[in-house]
Amino acid sequence: MSAEDQHYTMPPSGLLIVISGPSGAGKGTICAELLKRDRRLALSVSATTRQKGAHEEFGREYYFYSDEEFQKRLDEDGFLEWAEVHGKRYGTLKSQVEEIWDTGRDCILEIDVQGGIQVYRKMSQACVMIFVKATSEEELIRRVTARNREQPEEIRRRMLTARWEMTQEDKYHYTVVNDKLDEVVEQVLEIIREERINHAAAVH
Ligand code: 5GP
Repeated sequence: MSAEDQHYTMPPSGLLIVISGPSGAGKGTICAELLKRDRRLALSVSATTRQKGAHEEFGREYYFYSDEEFQKRLDEDGFLEWAEVHGKRYGTLKSQVEEIWDTGRDCILEIDVQGGIQVYRKMSQACVMIFVKATSEEELIRRVTARNREQPEEIRRRMLTARWEMTQEDKYHYTVVNDKLDEVVEQVLEIIREERINHAAAVH
């Protein structure tokens, strides 16, 4: 345990599975599959100041907060990490992680690289860092365009961020390439199984 971990107010009791990677790599789909296949996993619902999409719900995809609400939680020290992504703020609520750990489950954080690095600095011993890549940049663009959620300007902005995120892969323990969904999900589940064994051995 690092010195920073020891001084942290939230002692880790489960794993923090940090899943990052560029927009369009398929993190969301992978996470949804992980939850279906492993009942001991739960996803932390983040807070964000970005606009709610037409098919999104408060408390399901995100807690959609105003700038003031987000700032209030920040002032109360309510975030494990937060970052500005594509001009909006996103953050992991400590209360989400605590609730998940309290029920004996491991917590998935689907967050950007800046957030992943912060979490690792605070709680290295609990973290399993997984970077998800698409097979190519063309494939990323194809996926982000196909989901038809963002305007062209926003897609361009996301692709710029994606290029930067691709340079951060070395901050992660594992890289998986999302070519065939079923295979990549099995690969991630296998990583989690192994890390649970390592974690249990380290704690006892
Ligand atoms: P989107 O707007 O597409 O849902 O998410 C945009 C980016 O924000 C994605 O890379 C996503 O992983 C990241 N993100 C979502 N929640 C959080 C969070 O709580 N913290 C951080 N740092 N990034 C987040």
